[in-house]
Amino acid sequence: MKPLAVYVHIPFCTIKCGYCDFNAYAGMDALKPAHRDALLAEIDGYADRLGASEVTSIGFGGGTPGEVPPSHIADVISAVIRHATLAPGAEVTLEANPGTSNLAYFAALRDAGVTRISLGAQSFDAAHLQFLDRIHSVDAIGASLRAARAAGIENVNLDLIYGLPGQSTDHWRDQLRHALSLGPDHLSCYALTVEEGTPLHARVERGDVTLPTDDELADMYQAAEAFLAEAGFQHYEISNWTRPGFESRHNMAYWTDRDYLGIGAGAHGFLDGQRYENVAHPRAYIESATTQASPHPVAATYELPLHTTIADWVTLRLRLVEGFRAGEFQDRFGRSLDDLLGPVLRTATEAGWLERDGNRVRLTPEGRLLHGELAVRIIDHLERTLPVSATAAQP
Ligand code: SF4
Repeated sequence: MKPLAVYVHIPFCTIKCGYCDFNAYAGMDALKPAHRDALLAEIDGYADRLGASEVTSIGFGGGTPGEVPPSHIADVISAVIRHATLAPGAEVTLEANPGTSNLAYFAALRDAGVTRISLGAQSFDAAHLQFLDRIHSVDAIGASLRAARAAGIENVNLDLIYGLPGQSTDHWRDQLRHALSLGPDHLSCYALTVEEGTPLHARVERGDVTLPTDDELADMYQAAEAFLAEAGFQHYEISNWTRPGFESRHNMAYWTDRDYLGIGAGAHGFLDGQRYENVAHPRAYIESATTQASPHPVAATYELPLHTTIADWVTLRLRLVEGFRAGEFQDRFGRSLDDLLGPVLRTATEAGWLERDGNRVRLTPEGRLLHGELAVRIIDHLERTLPVSATAAQP
């Protein structure tokens, strides 16, 4: 049976945060029961695919999965299990907001089969939480983490954001210190990104908000690497650190370019070399998923050209601190890595961004700061050297 990850998108939020460009909506509480029914219909529509798969993880993201009752989460997990075999030790992970979760909530999730909680802490500075439009207090983060533990959830991640207005490296180190004092198993640390079209983008454009420079961001990133290594956390992906044995199985499916089924309004999926995205607006998604004429509420599918498939494969694997083996590339694409990417990898190695140790290829610590730039060079090179119409054979 083929391994498969399942992503479930819950598009509801209490408010729409000013920096957010996710497919998330506030003020749509009335649609929640219908969205649950649509999820169940969509899962039934994938019965054959699920029946031929071993599900290695189920990830609930959003939006805010905590916006729907645990019974909705339980219904979705049951529907997946009804059709598919769950792999031994499968991870069932859910993003939760500290402001809206307590012991009873986590206990219900645990009973539903949830094994991992990812708490959107973001910051332990009240002013920064306010800047981010977060609805929780600093104290709520610790209270939620303790509640998850008390409910028997053994794997807890904290999401943190750095690069906030006026933030120094020392301030960021204090945030990490505070996070570790709560005893999480895993930390995801992302630099604040200013996405076009968000209210935050408009504020930055107007000059109302000044953010740290790229050099300051690099200092903060390196401070996190040093601080968390000293605390015994393993750095295993560009933005992710873990206590030994608590790596995110669900996210590993994305980073190793494995198949995943995306369900829910606006969810993305990747099946048999094809990417697809669902109808984004919850109302339109519900209508599409529950209408017999269109059992799969898919808005668009993309047959990926070969250069995109290769670029995704390489750049996602380079996110992993251990990188990848050149032999894996050869097995996947039937051509050698150097044959297809020799010049761009050589330049990156000479610049000190990449290291090649025998068969293994990985970013250096400096290269981890430049992953985005290297990704652009890789796709540029492949676009110039491969025929645009070529598509990749499936493994
Ligand atoms: S809670 Fe998360 S998904 Fe919802 S609006 Fe805020 S950042 Fe976006």
